[in-house]
Amino acid sequence: MRYLVMSDIHSNFAALQAVLSDAAPFDAIWCLGDLVGYGPSPNRCIEELGDYDLVAVGGNHDWAALSRVDLHVFNVDAHQALVWTRSALTRDNYGFLSELPQKREVDGCLLVHGSPFEPLWEYLVDGERARKVFLTIEFQLLLVGHTHLPIVFEWQPKEGRAQLHLPDRERPLALGERRLIINPGSVGQPRDGDPRAAYGLLDTEAQTFEFRRVPYAIEITQERMRARNLPHRLIDRLELGR
Ligand code: ZN
Repeated sequence: MRYLVMSDIHSNFAALQAVLSDAAPFDAIWCLGDLVGYGPSPNRCIEELGDYDLVAVGGNHDWAALSRVDLHVFNVDAHQALVWTRSALTRDNYGFLSELPQKREVDGCLLVHGSPFEPLWEYLVDGERARKVFLTIEFQLLLVGHTHLPIVFEWQPKEGRAQLHLPDRERPLALGERRLIINPGSVGQPRDGDPRAAYGLLDTEAQTFEFRRVPYAIEITQERMRARNLPHRLIDRLELGR
């Protein structure tokens, strides 16, 4: 099976469309949360994903859009975008988000937005946090989002530590018997200095994970954000990838 692994779409429909056409053909989509928030097209993104064989978990912005989280935990820009998102979501799409679980196990992989300890909130950014996850939770492959940074942690059993790798763009990552935590990066608001949409392709036959980037029409998303009076800092950051 060939899975399109994506996270943090953040209502960026132009980026989502670019990813879907660049990734084809694939068998199913695994989505690691934050479908909405920040961006201008929450409904179109959710409806587009509905056309595919989809396994998804919820993220902190999805929970906030459902009013399950106090918006004051977010910064002022995220807060403003979430207020707008709440007002814009259709009843059906609200219902779709409300059924997302915080964790899913599928085809031997564990899917979560942040970390298995705190599915909505914890940022797996360093080896020490990743080490605790490897030591405490049983899995072969854990897929996470939330940081908007493509990254790999590999468990080194002899040394008892998690080794950090940055994605290799030249060749797919061979999975084999290794225990790995993989973050595909963000579709709709990359933060690693590369504004192109980020995603991954997991091939369970070839036992590989491929990190991909695809350019999209950033100005279209920015124009839609302006039309909805979304914060200018959120508009500007898309072209910086930060
Ligand atoms: Zn996010």
